[in-house]
Amino acid sequence: MNITRRAAAKTFLATVGGGVIFGRNRPASAAESRNAPEENIKTQVCVIGGGSGGTGAALAAARAGAKVVLLERESILGGTGTCAWVCVWRPVMGANGIPRNIYMAMKEDPLGASGTDYALSGMAGRAKDGKWLPTKPSLVYEPRAFDYAAREMLEATGQCQTLLATTFCRARVENDTIKAVEAWFAGKRLVIKADVFIDCTADGDVCADAGCEYHMGEDPQSLYNEPSAPEQAEMSLNAMTLCYRITDTGVPQKPYLPKGVKSGSCPLGACYDKMPNGDVVVNAVSMIKGNAVLCMEYSRLMREAQRRVHAHFHAIQTQTSGKTQWNTWTISGIAPRIGVRETRRILGDYVLTENDCRAGLAKQSHKDVIAIADHAIDLHGHRGRFYRLDGPYGIPYRCLLPKGVRNLMIASRAASFSHIAASSCRLQRTMMTLGQAAGNAAALAIKHHVDPRRIDVAELQVRLQSQGVDITALASHS
Ligand SMILES: Cc1cc2nc3c(=O)[nH]c(=O)nc-3n(C[C@H](O)[C@H](O)[C@H](O)COP(=O)(O)OP(=O)(O)OC[C@H]3O[C@@H](n4cnc5c(N)ncnc54)[C@H](O)[C@@H]3O)c2cc1C
Repeated sequence: MNITRRAAAKTFLATVGGGVIFGRNRPASAAESRNAPEENIKTQVCVIGGGSGGTGAALAAARAGAKVVLLERESILGGTGTCAWVCVWRPVMGANGIPRNIYMAMKEDPLGASGTDYALSGMAGRAKDGKWLPTKPSLVYEPRAFDYAAREMLEATGQCQTLLATTFCRARVENDTIKAVEAWFAGKRLVIKADVFIDCTADGDVCADAGCEYHMGEDPQSLYNEPSAPEQAEMSLNAMTLCYRITDTGVPQKPYLPKGVKSGSCPLGACYDKMPNGDVVVNAVSMIKGNAVLCMEYSRLMREAQRRVHAHFHAIQTQTSGKTQWNTWTISGIAPRIGVRETRRILGDYVLTENDCRAGLAKQSHKDVIAIADHAIDLHGHRGRFYRLDGPYGIPYRCLLPKGVRNLMIASRAASFSHIAASSCRLQRTMMTLGQAAGNAAALAIKHHVDPRRIDVAELQVRLQSQGVDITALASHS
């Protein structure tokens, strides 16, 4: 079923009896709110969520001269990439702006990032004479290096106040305008007023709280006319993964399985990416069904995922048909957060669909493309599917404009995409590039005293191109 805001709330209540919703914070009770000390902050752009999209948005707006406040509930920037240890940038086109700047800064740190040449990872691949020619390599980075580089670059602007360990909890909306957002830090309530707000929470929390419509799960074919969509809408989210890190000790290791954990009780398919220090980060792709995020309390989910990490590594150490490649390796760390691929998708002025991804730039007629991408359609739901694309497609600016609120933008995996399109364009560098577009657009809106919907998109495009963002694919296609 395709879920609107009200129906989703009902589903949550029916399945968890009002329990924890991941990424959603329990609002303080009225009594708590009254007694808490309050601090007011006034800024021009408020970015909520400091992951891939949020880092791009805050940096772009601040570099464009706007006064920015960036809120992040964790103690480091980078979101899923750093906190869930999805510290791998798969090849994708178009990411030549802020992601490239961050990569170059991470490379300054001797063990910050691996990958020989940034340009080589600038294309998912290309079909030629009926054959698929993949490009390589992925770029792998240390989570701490991303956080450090992003913080340095934000500080260098002199325009951004970064508030870590600060959790957004409520949007104050009047007449289709967000007047302020409320957030909590150490028992103190912050009230942040801004001209433009950018939701980069990944779950679309700000948009949902402001009353924007959203969808979850598989869209029915009738909605966007997508060839691969099922006939009926279905509540099926992409699988989640708790990533872990393994280290080569150099001497044979006795396979370890904690009590009560069954070896192999986790699907074995996984990506193994070499970290700059020689460790390997393991992403067991279908570790936990995506829908569990809707009906399990997070701590139980985390516990189950930790068991599956051990089950996974034990199985690959012992069951790989006599291969011993991991027999000297051991688990050296488990990410502190589960990697969630999909939750809400906020309805914007335009919804990017499978038809856009398959048509590609040449056949799309959008005048407002602000980013390109070419990663495969890559679904890890109960009907896993993987289709490679022949070339890049454009993402219109309108995908960043949630319907119904005039001064709110969205730059995260929860932006206005269909379920299928989101599986292609959710990559971190694409999210960062969307953030770069949103941050620049917010700065333009402020400069010209208009809503983000009313900016001159051609001016935005020129600005993005001057910052290295590839929106025509000419640079990457050569
Ligand atoms: C297991 C897995 C494997 C993947 N593999 C790859 C890959 O190999 N390569 C690749 O490029 N992409 C990969 N992806 C996709 C990619 O990592 C995500 O789609 C991308 O990181 C999403 O970026 P984002 O900015 O939307 O969200 P995030 O990066 O998750 O950032 C959201 C931020 O908002 C913060 N936040 C949320 N709520 C609040 C709140 N209430 N108050 C304050 N802050 C808040 C969060 O703490 C977080 O920092 C993978 C994803 C997963 C889960």
